[in-house]
Amino acid sequence: MFDAIMIEKSEDGQTVKMTEVGADQLPEGDVLVDVAYSTLNYKDALAITGASPVVRSFPMVPGIDYSGIVVESAHSDYKPGDRVVLNGWGVGEKHWGGLAKQARVKGDWLVPLPDGISLRQAMAIGTAGYTAMLCVDALQKHGITPESGEVVVSGAAGGVGSVATALLAARGFEVAAVTGRMSETDYLKGLGAASIVDRAELSGKGRPLAKERWAAGVDVAGSTVLANMLASIKYRGVVAACGLAAGMDLPATVAPFILRGVTLVGVDSVNCPKAERLEAWEGLARDLDLAKLDAMTTEIAFSDVVETAPKFLEGQIRGRIVVPVSPELG
Ligand code: NDP
Repeated sequence: MFDAIMIEKSEDGQTVKMTEVGADQLPEGDVLVDVAYSTLNYKDALAITGASPVVRSFPMVPGIDYSGIVVESAHSDYKPGDRVVLNGWGVGEKHWGGLAKQARVKGDWLVPLPDGISLRQAMAIGTAGYTAMLCVDALQKHGITPESGEVVVSGAAGGVGSVATALLAARGFEVAAVTGRMSETDYLKGLGAASIVDRAELSGKGRPLAKERWAAGVDVAGSTVLANMLASIKYRGVVAACGLAAGMDLPATVAPFILRGVTLVGVDSVNCPKAERLEAWEGLARDLDLAKLDAMTTEIAFSDVVETAPKFLEGQIRGRIVVPVSPELG
């Protein structure tokens, strides 16, 4: 038997508690993993609080990502002792996730952890950081270079935003960090932001087109923030959109697309094809400054996960949260 956080649902509503489960209760899969670290992402907070219907079947072990060591494998790519990382694929939503000491999954969902990244660093990065890498890769695949001009990042003090800021700076981009917490100016400059933009500038109802300000953007907010960002992107610029921290709506017009040739690229980490995942993790291993990663990481005890989750929805979390599930694994 081992510890797991379990979400259950009854007629009275949703309950979440630490409980004990056995390996025989784990869902189907061809690889059994001892979980070393998991994390808290925005989506985990939605699942644990029940604020949004993220969990599709109950009972559910939350945790959309984890790093760990393979214990048993019937998959040709993995053998006991291998270091692996898991992001997405509905884990923590429809398949038991990483906030448990063991997890069983399809080997096809796993990514071998690149050399140079520890099990803890893998979850300091987590799904938020891997998504940030997908966003930066998307901008570059669409032709954005440091010479194109400044890149704006919304929700910069959050998980995706912090890693995106550090990665863009590492790749030579000038970053304009948008935050609702101007008190985090020093933190954001420490990650490599060249300038700080008060979120209030992008939160109100804007015009279809505003002054051309940024060459590209990474947006975690959606709603008016994304609409105003699009209206302020330079001719032929690109925005990678991955989140909805401000809302799922998009009160924009087609003006940026048809008059300035702006491209809006959607970024999804959950069902992202394996080749792009491997590329993203290689990019993180190569380019992410691990000292900056440390600066943006806070560790919380496995037993404190449930009480910490609501803070995400209040926008109080800075950077990344790591959960040591079995840190003795390495
Ligand atoms: P965090 O909570 O760590 O960061 C979100 C940040 O957004 C906050 O820290 C805050 O930053 C900013 N923010 C909060 N409320 C608002 C608001 N009302 N308007 C504008 N900005 C706001 O979450 P994550 O970084 O983990 O995730 C960010 C978003 O990306 C979430 O919506 C999440 O669901 C999504 N996501 C999507 C993925 C995908 O596959 N598409 C994968 C991972 C995440 P600040 O205080 O600096 O303004």
